Amino acid sequence: MADRSDLETLRESALETGADKAVIIPVSDVLLDPRVRLKCMIPKCYMSGSCGHCPPHGNSIQEVREILSRFRQGIFFQVPVKSTIIAAKSLYKAIETGIMDNEGNAFNLGGHYILVFSIVKLLQKRAKSMGYRVTHGFAAGNCRDPFCHLQPHCRDLMTQKGCRHPELSSFSMESCGMDVFTMAARAGWNHYPIGGTCTPESVPTGNLMGLVLVA
Ligand code: SF4
Repeated sequence: MADRSDLETLRESALETGADKAVIIPVSDVLLDPRVRLKCMIPKCYMSGSCGHCPPHGNSIQEVREILSRFRQGIFFQVPVKSTIIAAKSLYKAIETGIMDNEGNAFNLGGHYILVFSIVKLLQKRAKSMGYRVTHGFAAGNCRDPFCHLQPHCRDLMTQKGCRHPELSSFSMESCGMDVFTMAARAGWNHYPIGGTCTPESVPTGNLMGLVLVA
């Protein structure tokens, strides 16, 4: 079991590198719900089936349960995104067409997602340098938009060569069926579902979450 002071160091690392909230949680607080993975597929998210890390690909709920069973605790963190970026009107057209909006909101949001992926990998590397050989990280969203947007396809999905960016990319919490909204609520964080009809005025803020498990 990881030492409490080591976990506290990792928690502080998350805060120092861009998270605005981070907590140490027992693995029993990681909530799985098969409906979360189903939500990616019904109705079909534009990335479902196009990214090796997104449903229907990736880990089944049973596989995630197996992964969780090998850990005792983790660092759960959140990165805030201004509602003027994550609920910008121009954003959804950019996602739909693949053409970046002139306001730069799609790039800006991509930068926030990359920050979550980066914090996950950084915490895993720090934990390893402390002597914890086994860690597992989960980020937010799909990895194709931030890392392989300019590529014709996901290499992991379309070839036998594996992921192009194994040192950067992770499965997201939601792709693994984690009920991130309830986990955030239980941590005492305000979290708002944001969809295509939201406007910057209708949501106070956006948040992206990540989780790193340490054995
Ligand atoms: S980073 Fe790229 S190659 Fe790797 S899983 Fe994501 S989309 Fe596929």
